[in-house]
Amino acid sequence: MEKEVIKFLDLKAVNEAYRPEIDDAIQRVLDSGWYLLGKEGAAFEQEFAEYCQAKHCLGVASGLDALILILMGYRELGLIEEGDEIIVPANTYVASILAISRSGFTPILVEPDEQTYNIDPTLIEEAITKRTKAIMVVHLYGQCADMDSINELAKKHDLKVIEDAAQAHGATYKGRRAGSLGNAAGFSFYPGKNLGALGDGGAVITSDSALAEVITALRNYGSLEKYYNRHKGMNSRLDELQAAVLRVKLKNLDVDTEKRRQVAEDYLLDLKSDRSSLKLPHVADYGKHVWHLFVIRHPNRDVIAARLADQGIQTVIHYPIPPHQQKGYPELNGLTLPLTETIHQEVLSLPISPAMDEDSTRRVIETINKLLV
Ligand SMILES: *Cc1c(COP(=O)(O)O)cnc(C)c1O
Repeated sequence: MEKEVIKFLDLKAVNEAYRPEIDDAIQRVLDSGWYLLGKEGAAFEQEFAEYCQAKHCLGVASGLDALILILMGYRELGLIEEGDEIIVPANTYVASILAISRSGFTPILVEPDEQTYNIDPTLIEEAITKRTKAIMVVHLYGQCADMDSINELAKKHDLKVIEDAAQAHGATYKGRRAGSLGNAAGFSFYPGKNLGALGDGGAVITSDSALAEVITALRNYGSLEKYYNRHKGMNSRLDELQAAVLRVKLKNLDVDTEKRRQVAEDYLLDLKSDRSSLKLPHVADYGKHVWHLFVIRHPNRDVIAARLADQGIQTVIHYPIPPHQQKGYPELNGLTLPLTETIHQEVLSLPISPAMDEDSTRRVIETINKLLV
């Protein structure tokens, strides 16, 4: 008998769980006759700011734009100038680095910590120069970076701390939520993220009111008052439909996260890593991991991925090529970052989502354990 395919992420099933409420939300927006910068967006901004334990939330068009707008905002405020350097983990998704170069700044790549895959705070100080203006941390896979040591360094060297929280909705560090752990944070609502829309979307979270005001203008052509342009802005807004859908999903985010945690807990308990070369994710004791991805490491990950595919189990590699080896970044191609390179050769993401049932989790565990004896 053909086994049922276990999808890496069954987005239809994830959203189906909230179908009646999502249908209502869409209907409400359609009936309102108002589709951009309206009541739904404003309500979502208030609810998500509160959720993130911060003062301001600004809905924008994507996670990449959220990060770009933060950097453009600092530039408009005169705090970062063209050519200034921003420290960023070398093993992040390329969007973090794109945001830096798109805004006219220079990304300085720093290797991650081998346990958490987040930026290694002990390597940051040697990367700081006179031109360094900010540290962009990335809470990769859903676990916060080690913020105390990073904020301390930032204070010592007068740097801004920007969180790329695109994978970390609801993650905590010492009791505080992602989005409130630095000076400003960018979130993504790409459909596959933990808080996912039905299309693109993103948000800036900050408690810095001056920055929030500049970004409010920048996302809307640089204007706070129609046809009066204070800045050279862009058009990057979260639309009313996405905001209305996100309000439904936000109400249920903690429930969804709990379901992800349950899958992760089963994997962590029952995948056999003691006698094989399999490395399981390390959960730091300083906070709550929200399991955007469950990433294992193995020197033969391509063989494992192929065997799992044979058994109808989908996996994904996050990510196959590190940013500094991408064709689009010739200026970074000369760098050697051994740990980042090894990580990209060995990582494999197992299926995880709020829609994953216990039988599927068991089947993934048994299949991998059989492969590795
Ligand atoms: C998804 C993601 C982004 C970009 O978000 P988009 O909404 O797709 O633009 C940025 N950084 C990280 C770490 C991401 O995972």
